[in-house]
Amino acid sequence: MTRVGVPRGLLFYQYFPMWRTFLEALGAEVVVSPVTTRGLAISGASRMVAETCIPVKAFCGHVLALRGQCDYVFIPAIRSMTPRVFNCSKFLGLPDMVRAACPDAPPILDVDIDVNQGRHELYQAIYRLARPFTWNPVRVKKATVLALEANRAYVEQMSQQRQIPPEALGPLLPAGDGREAPPSLAAGQAPSNGGHRLTLALIGHPYVIYDDYITHRLLSRLQGMGVDVVTPEMVPEAALEAAIANLDGRSYWTYEGEVVGAGGYYRDSGVDGVIGVLAFGCGPDSLMVDLVKHYAQDKGCPFLGVTLDEHTGEAGLLTRLEAFVDMIARRKRAG
Ligand code: SF4
Repeated sequence: MTRVGVPRGLLFYQYFPMWRTFLEALGAEVVVSPVTTRGLAISGASRMVAETCIPVKAFCGHVLALRGQCDYVFIPAIRSMTPRVFNCSKFLGLPDMVRAACPDAPPILDVDIDVNQGRHELYQAIYRLARPFTWNPVRVKKATVLALEANRAYVEQMSQQRQIPPEALGPLLPAGDGREAPPSLAAGQAPSNGGHRLTLALIGHPYVIYDDYITHRLLSRLQGMGVDVVTPEMVPEAALEAAIANLDGRSYWTYEGEVVGAGGYYRDSGVDGVIGVLAFGCGPDSLMVDLVKHYAQDKGCPFLGVTLDEHTGEAGLLTRLEAFVDMIARRKRAG
């Protein structure tokens, strides 16, 4: 059976159920790279120019970790999934960038996805992707339908059950594959925010906020402080679009939903504060997170911006986080 490796980075958190369903329906065995570690991130960073954002460096490390594990590594070039809404240039050239930086990577199975090119082009791209497995168009069509259904179910599950991607992906990944569980509070122990239950919105790209190495476990640290964390995936798609229309007009970037839409939605839904996480060197993030910061501050909603790269110190990040939570808890106590 052909083994296809999927790197656990970038669009993995959004599309893994869809990709896995498609590849398995074509008869492939899917293997996933391990969780990001320091060694893995360093191996990826060593192949990239210093200015590259940390998620792309880590992605490169995931590709390298799949060497010897698979016959192909799946790296799609996703330009646009919605008409006239685009991904950043890193996604557009991802397979070529990896080919150039990692000549020792397994052969790359790539596909160009750009809905602006029309349905015919899209179908042709999908058929070309399936060629190593089958030339039968009926089989490819069936696999595509199943994959779209898996994607719809995944998105609905997260929004209806208020789950984050690592929870929703759990059953699809090998048991105990390295992700640490959130630290739980011992019975009767007062949370460090002084007993006040806080709700904070964490906004940013899924490949940043759910990667425990990149964020120094920011999400589970907040949960450990007794904070209820809400994230973009918990917001219904229609509400995200309405929030973007309200704050920003029409979307241009694919991830405006997870940053501007979620930031605007949560600002208006009465959360106690918003934390915007961005990758150092990311142009789209620096604009969008700044926009959310201004909108949040206009409404008196506390906002913390966190910029991450491979040099971010864990202690400094933790201190800022604790100070932010503490400030909000005092504010809440003071009524
Ligand atoms: S959007 Fe930003 S963080 Fe994401 S890949 Fe592009 S530059 Fe990197």
